[in-house]
Amino acid sequence: MAVQEFENLDLEQVNDTQKIQILKKINTDLKSSLDDIISILTKFSEAISIKFDLKNLLELVCDTLKDIIKYSSIAITIYDGEKDSFNYMALRNVEPAIDAKIKNIIGDGLAHWSISQKRSIVLPDMENNAEATVLIVPLITQMETVGVIFMYCKKTAESFMQQDLEFLNILGAQSAIAIKNTFLYNEMGLKNQDLANLKNYLNDVINNMVTGIIVLDMQGVIKTFNHVAENLICISANATIGKVYNEILPLSISEKLKEAFTEATKADLQHAKSFNELEVDYSETGKVIPIRISYNCIKDNNSKIFAIIFMLRDMSESREIQRLREIDKIKSELVANVSHELRTPLTSIKAYSETLLDIVGSEDVDTQKEFLNIICQESERLTNLISNLLDLSKLEAGDFKLVLSSVNLSEIVKKCALLVKELAGQKGVSISVEIPQQAPNISCDASKIEQVIINLLSNAIKYNKPEGGKVDVSLKENKSSFEIVIKDTGIGMPKEALGKIFEKFFRVDSSLTYQVSGTGLGLAIVKHIIEKHNGQITVESTINVGSKFTVTLPKK
Ligand code: ATP
Ligand code: MG
Repeated sequence: MAVQEFENLDLEQVNDTQKIQILKKINTDLKSSLDDIISILTKFSEAISIKFDLKNLLELVCDTLKDIIKYSSIAITIYDGEKDSFNYMALRNVEPAIDAKIKNIIGDGLAHWSISQKRSIVLPDMENNAEATVLIVPLITQMETVGVIFMYCKKTAESFMQQDLEFLNILGAQSAIAIKNTFLYNEMGLKNQDLANLKNYLNDVINNMVTGIIVLDMQGVIKTFNHVAENLICISANATIGKVYNEILPLSISEKLKEAFTEATKADLQHAKSFNELEVDYSETGKVIPIRISYNCIKDNNSKIFAIIFMLRDMSESREIQRLREIDKIKSELVANVSHELRTPLTSIKAYSETLLDIVGSEDVDTQKEFLNIICQESERLTNLISNLLDLSKLEAGDFKLVLSSVNLSEIVKKCALLVKELAGQKGVSISVEIPQQAPNISCDASKIEQVIINLLSNAIKYNKPEGGKVDVSLKENKSSFEIVIKDTGIGMPKEALGKIFEKFFRVDSSLTYQVSGTGLGLAIVKHIIEKHNGQITVESTINVGSKFTVTLPKK
């Protein structure tokens, strides 16, 4: 440094003009050296602020120190607090002898001392007759110890001025902060990597779930849309993410999500723990997919809803399984019912024919006649049952076609009333018929409509009072339909049975019903035929008062 040139000058020998010149020179030199230091520090601060790699940063520190201190060797060590040791991180020209010196300094506690004093130390190298110096610069931030710089200089300790040490203190503090920053930066990088890994992991989990997942934020923007959702709704995640759901999703789905959205803003759902469910039959590709949508709100730590998660499940399989189960159940019931209904008449036919065989040729003609009559009735019952079953199976299979013709309903009603007259007579039931004088024709399957009216009239007669029962049958023409009403004064039916009487094999569970023979198929057939004509049948009934069946047939 320039100021040193004048240190040994004998001022007695110098005149005033020379003194002024010397002072001016010292002043200029000091100013220029201060400018140099400021410039080096500024450059250094700028350079370290963009260095996030420890190795590069330490190289820069070594270079900067070289410009100022002109050391012959340098070692930058990083302090390991856990082990209370210093690890070399950057080395230049550290020969074994220098290495040993540094280790001695550390061993003697001088590195720690420099740290505790928060200042640099100048240590003369006594082994070299103090012709060399070791400089110890602590690397400390306000909060913690980062490390220590050791520099070996082939200069005496005295050649270092106080301002050099001040400068080293500043540079050490700045370097310490920069080193610390590289640690934080690396940690941040690791954390970012962890976050990225976690995100990928969660994405993998969500995409490999068997349910479709859609997550919306409270503005309705799609945040997550997994593979199953893509496959179910036939739209790619890329096309949906970041878009508002009702602008991109098909109407049937977005309408359902809207319901959930409205619900989500209601207070009760905000406290609800369980999932809510919605169902939609989705048919974007022509094939109907029943989708069950469960949804719930996602809340932050303050229980504020910030998103809604929707889980979509394809219910095709379970619906199909349920349908097959129902069919299976119906089949089992049908087989049981049919077997039972067939066995009953067959058993009595068998029993009576066996007895007949025993008594055939005997004098008791009356008994033989009675038995033959029973066999005849039971055979008729069997025939009835079988023909009803055949009718029903054709109707249910749907492969039966109406034979349409222009028909006068009044004629049909009259004909049917006549056909059941015999049965009514046997039961002591009177039939009254009320039909319009002139009713226009209607297009229908005459024999099927006859089957309907006969079935209903037979029921009205069969389930009537033992004596003095009445059946009223009427035909009424409305604007767009005909109405056939069959009303009886019979045993009636309980309210809970009314919804079931059109099911196969259903018979009201009462002793009065069982006194009358029947297969429980008549009304099932009736309902099928009427529905095939786009009509409808309704029933009203009161126990012990009577029943009223109303058939409505549209004119077109
Ligand atoms: P079938 O197959 O021979 O007609 P069924 O008369 O028993 O036998 P449905 O006509 O289907 O069968 O009637 C079902 C049941 O509804 C009857 O068993 C009976 O219990 C009840 N039912 C039907 N019509 C009447 C009615 N008019 N009054 C009271 N009960 C009735
Ligand atoms: Mg019947």
